[in-house]
Amino acid sequence: MINLEWSKLPFGYRKTDYNIRCYFRDGKWGELEVSSSEYLNLHISATALHYGQEAFEGMKAYRGKDGKIRLFRWEENFKRMERSAHGVYMQPVPKEIFKEAIDKAVLLNEQYVPPHGTGAALYIRPLLIGSGAEIGVKPANEYLFAVFVTPVGPYFKEGFNPVKIAVVRDSDRAAPLGTGDIKVGGNYASSLRGVIKAKEAGYGSPMYLDSKEKKYIDEIGAANFFAIKDNTYITPKSSSILPSITNMSIMQLAEDMGIKVERRQIDIEELETFDEVGACGTAAIISPIGEIYDIDKDKRYTFCKDGKPGPISKKIYNKLVAIQYGDEPDPHGWVSFVK
Ligand SMILES: *Cc1c(COP(=O)(O)O)cnc(C)c1O
Repeated sequence: MINLEWSKLPFGYRKTDYNIRCYFRDGKWGELEVSSSEYLNLHISATALHYGQEAFEGMKAYRGKDGKIRLFRWEENFKRMERSAHGVYMQPVPKEIFKEAIDKAVLLNEQYVPPHGTGAALYIRPLLIGSGAEIGVKPANEYLFAVFVTPVGPYFKEGFNPVKIAVVRDSDRAAPLGTGDIKVGGNYASSLRGVIKAKEAGYGSPMYLDSKEKKYIDEIGAANFFAIKDNTYITPKSSSILPSITNMSIMQLAEDMGIKVERRQIDIEELETFDEVGACGTAAIISPIGEIYDIDKDKRYTFCKDGKPGPISKKIYNKLVAIQYGDEPDPHGWVSFVK
């Protein structure tokens, strides 16, 4: 294993040894190719570059105490990528190719899978792009599926601490019947104005409201939103949010703990009534939120008044992370091994 300061690694790109590629050409998927180049050789007129035919996934490989490498609910990432492919008219990747490419990318870069106990993990980025040349607006006839990996440190270097969020109202991430519910690059491009606006105001991430009425909570940056009130876990139901696998897992764990789960519209004014609020996704798993500032209305909602995350958020976070690293039993069969 190479020697890195695992627990200090940022959530950023670091070169590893190999990545995997597979092309769809002439109506069929080819063989997996192993590459040690960090670059793709792409046609200048590829649809991914001009018309946004692109989808990706984000997942992590975790090393357990036993040294074994674990994946968390990879089939859900596969299904979501299939939905994303359909959503922007790309050729979906067959399940076997998806899994084989991930296993290969992880195993060939095994020396970058962080040791257990460092809080670090190997981030896995599968990506599917239209690689065929077109000028008219239509789907490509060639696709590239690629997988690369990069080691990432624990999201919170100083421990599990509350973050600050700013509500942005002058740009939308996604439309009600647009592509907000699939994981495509275009959503990220249109979220950047909000991200920068929040950062410039001194906040970590933006909160997006539903784009039609600007009344209901949609998402926090690239993470789902949740709230806790009266032993109930509440998370938005909306056609423009990305179904987070972390959130799906938290809902199950909450139920297991005897916490009621509600998926419904959440009016932003309801923020005043919540005991705990947070964001969830693969990168941080859970980010407890300490403050939400509605910039345009100059209104502030505060949580975690003692500066510490709420007890339920903390309990769920600890449980989920323990399952992912193999420190606690996996009652729902979410964990599988890389082989
Ligand atoms: C990827 C993503 C999430 C988090 O999903 P996970 O499956 O939990 O990683 C949430 N929101 C958006 C917009 C995303 O792209």
